[in-house]
Amino acid sequence: MAEISWKRKPGQKLAPLAERLKKLGLVSDWDFVLHLPLRYEDETSITPIEELEVGVDAQVEGVVTNNSDNRFGNFEAWVDDETDMLKVRFIHYYPSIRDLLKVGKRVRLYGNPRAAFGGGLEMIHPKVRAPKSESDLPKTLSPVYPAGEGVTQLWLRKRIDRALMDVDISDLLTEEERNELHLPGLSEAINSLHHPKAGAPIGPLQNRTDPAWQRLKFDELLAQQISLKKSREMRDMNKGPLMPLRKGDNNSLTAKFFHSLPFKLTKAQIRVWKDIYESLGSERPMNRLVQGDVGSGKTVVAALAACQAIDAGYQAALMAPTEILAEQHFKKIISWLEPFGVRVVWLSGKQKAKEKREALAAIEDGAELVVGTHAIIQPDVKFKALGLAIVDEQHRFGVDQRLAIRAQQNGMMPHLLMLSATPIPRTLAMSYLADIDVSVIDELPPGRQEISTKLVSMSRKGDLVEWIGKSLAAGLQAYWVCPLIEESEKVDLTAATETCEEIKQILPQFKIELLHGKMTPEDKNAVMDRFVKGETKLLVSTTVIEVGVDVPNASIMVIEHAERFGLAQLHQLRGRVGRGSIKSYCFAIFGDQLSKIGKERLQVFNDTTDGFEISRRDLELRGPGEFLGARQSGAALLRFADFETDGFLVEKAMAMADKWIREKDPRAEKHAARWYQSKEKYLEA
Ligand code: ADP
Ligand code: MG
Repeated sequence: MAEISWKRKPGQKLAPLAERLKKLGLVSDWDFVLHLPLRYEDETSITPIEELEVGVDAQVEGVVTNNSDNRFGNFEAWVDDETDMLKVRFIHYYPSIRDLLKVGKRVRLYGNPRAAFGGGLEMIHPKVRAPKSESDLPKTLSPVYPAGEGVTQLWLRKRIDRALMDVDISDLLTEEERNELHLPGLSEAINSLHHPKAGAPIGPLQNRTDPAWQRLKFDELLAQQISLKKSREMRDMNKGPLMPLRKGDNNSLTAKFFHSLPFKLTKAQIRVWKDIYESLGSERPMNRLVQGDVGSGKTVVAALAACQAIDAGYQAALMAPTEILAEQHFKKIISWLEPFGVRVVWLSGKQKAKEKREALAAIEDGAELVVGTHAIIQPDVKFKALGLAIVDEQHRFGVDQRLAIRAQQNGMMPHLLMLSATPIPRTLAMSYLADIDVSVIDELPPGRQEISTKLVSMSRKGDLVEWIGKSLAAGLQAYWVCPLIEESEKVDLTAATETCEEIKQILPQFKIELLHGKMTPEDKNAVMDRFVKGETKLLVSTTVIEVGVDVPNASIMVIEHAERFGLAQLHQLRGRVGRGSIKSYCFAIFGDQLSKIGKERLQVFNDTTDGFEISRRDLELRGPGEFLGARQSGAALLRFADFETDGFLVEKAMAMADKWIREKDPRAEKHAARWYQSKEKYLEA
């Protein structure tokens, strides 16, 4: 957000003021009250020019001794305060500056001194004004607000000051509560952020660690926690289908499926399964996220939950974010459950009309299990009795989609089970997901081979292809993932096609196929099938294989231009290998245009295969806003508080929200309503 905008295109009209303000989030008086300064200027004192420090904002006062236009068209002037001389320079300026800086005039300048070319100090674009008298210095620091085109600092200051007078800033916390939290009063905090007293240290104000900031952050977190807990309460008022586990009944589908598994569940899988089957045995609709690193075996746990729903006479649905992944689930689940007479229906947006009609009819007729893409949440799908909705790779779906799948069915709210390999760091989970129960599969099935990761420079791509040739000859299979160049599939496709041809030329003896997002579902499946069967040795693909795909014999993953992927994506891709008992490799090929952050990301990727550690480092490198992604965060992003640095405030806000709601304290409603006054709706899901 620009503080001052110098140029408007000729003829371009400004939008009406109200609209410009709305863009800044400024509608109600309360919005203005919470429009807090970005930074401050200390115009309460004058610094002698000889005491100026490079990089430290300061105010000086002196007489203009000379001015001129330099050869670049910049306007320059020299100001003398008897201790020293200071140069000021304007690259963009209003003509009125020339009048203010006429030789002989006394001026007051506020700006950031830097070393001038040719010696001495200069200020570029300082604030210039003609002092009325020596004693007219302000008593408080001057706030600098986030502003926009046609909304000036002066106007904002006046408008905010009026709002500060008009709005009821009464404190909802008692003195006792404030003392316990070591927080100042609300009105005191807000006023001191808008008008800090002269001499107040600017550092803590600007880096938002000042107690006044702590108070605002606390109130924000408190409002968030209250609204999250409210939404949980609302959900708890709904009834979910009762589907207790039929313990000891060896004829239940759950028991038969469990005993037919070719492997033993890990301890972590058993623990998470228990969380789930206990929830399903209660009428409170479940809202559970199962987190488990790639390959930890989330699918089988979800399938066990589906069996429990079916045992109780309900339907279950499993939704996956891509056709390929949904198809894989479909095949696996058929192989697991059809032997026991379960009807499994496939549903996808790209189905032929007749197939789709049949699928919809079967679902309405009560087919026990539906597997598919987001086609499952389209309005034409009518379940007979949906009891459990499972969302795989939940972070790939938006909030709306997750809510849609658990829409009321015949007055009942189906239980919701979400699966994700992208772990959400603890503070984030605590605050943001207050409405969700989290179960973690923190253990991989035994016998998995450590994946060895190698960073490879682009110049050594040839050697790598040769090495892969030898591995393919030894019976192994490999993925080769091509980079996302732009948000354009077409460009990606060209790159992937070229790479595929290139490799085919070097390794003509092997079957190599290309998989990309533009293919029809049938073609994609056919390619995938040949890879699963082992006919195709090397699969070159765009990132369509990023999530969930499971081909145990594939043990080599090559990621070209790995620096263009996010850490979570890289980790997902690497998770495609190391699924069998063969020693697995992941090669991250990096280009020569490696940014600092790109380098750091690859280093993290190289250093650890632990999903939680990767996610923690990812958060550090990117910050929570981007981590959650726009679609996941909805309108919920915090303005003032920061999950990483304000963890202790999160815990305190949680505790207070809990208490207020438990004790039916009317302050809970009041606080949330005040805080979210002009926001469209409270946070959801
Ligand atoms: P993810 O958690 O990434 O979705 P999957 O559910 O796809 O992982 O499981 C990965 C592979 O591990 C599958 O082939 C699955 O059959 C297998 N698997 C799951 N649980 C176990 C276990 N307890 N022991 C051995 N293999 C398992
Ligand atoms: Mg999976």
